[in-house]
Amino acid sequence: MRNKILLCGAKGRMGSAISAISDQHDCEITAPIDQGDDPSEQIHKCDVVIDFSLADATLPMAEMAVQAAKPMIIGTTGHDRALKQRIIQTLSPIPVVWAGNFSTGVNILFYLTQQVSRVLDSKSDFDPEVLEMHHRLKKDAPSGTADRLLEIIKDSRKANDHDITHGRSGIPGERKIEEIGSHAIRGGDIVGEHTVMYAGIGERIELTHRATDRVIFAAGALRAAKWVAQQKPGLYSMQDVLGLQG
Ligand code: NAD
Repeated sequence: MRNKILLCGAKGRMGSAISAISDQHDCEITAPIDQGDDPSEQIHKCDVVIDFSLADATLPMAEMAVQAAKPMIIGTTGHDRALKQRIIQTLSPIPVVWAGNFSTGVNILFYLTQQVSRVLDSKSDFDPEVLEMHHRLKKDAPSGTADRLLEIIKDSRKANDHDITHGRSGIPGERKIEEIGSHAIRGGDIVGEHTVMYAGIGERIELTHRATDRVIFAAGALRAAKWVAQQKPGLYSMQDVLGLQG
């Protein structure tokens, strides 16, 4: 079935990327919405709402999606914890996929990191380090994706936030067994690269994802839109869409 999409943030970089490939994914952007538009009429003619806009725009869009009983995809980032909780509560009557990263490859990297971290746990004598690289204009570090990778490793090792070591300088001393290293490289036009490294004695495992184009996020969001239209109410992740749980 061809899905009709209300796209919130349609004039933005992600909105444009989604519009450009919607046809290939058997979707049609029937309601391209941006700042100042009133979606209240058009929402009734769509099957799914996709939001890649601004953190403040997500809650009003979510309220409208719930009223119209339309499933929703949220790619927008930057909500603080309280706002995120409010949005999640509001969305409980409908199916929603919310992901900070819609790339298929990055979600596979999350999954593989979960699997490897289970085997190479704190008793394994392998030292985990996360490296991320982005373009020179990126303002935050580590990236949200690196944060998620660090969280996966931390949880599987039952480690604490203070075990995560961001960079090293001076004389930090020998590496502690519970340490999880985190390193951010910035330069040029690197779209995004993440490596999870497990360094052992005499061997090393590296899991790497390289992003070269934002089309990967657009393709993931459209894949999620087709999937969410078939789901029961609930909050889902991109790993649910890809069948990568467990
Ligand atoms: P952008 O600034 O290029 O586009 C945002 C668009 O939203 C703009 O056109 C803006 O006018 C519009 N907008 C602002 N307020 C609005 C409102 N109230 N109603 C409707 N539209 C409104 O940004 P972008 O690069 O397209 O990214 C958009 C969001 O998606 C950001 O939060 C970004 O971090 C996030 N993002 C997520 C992923 C992912 O995989 N989850 C990937 C890339 C970007």
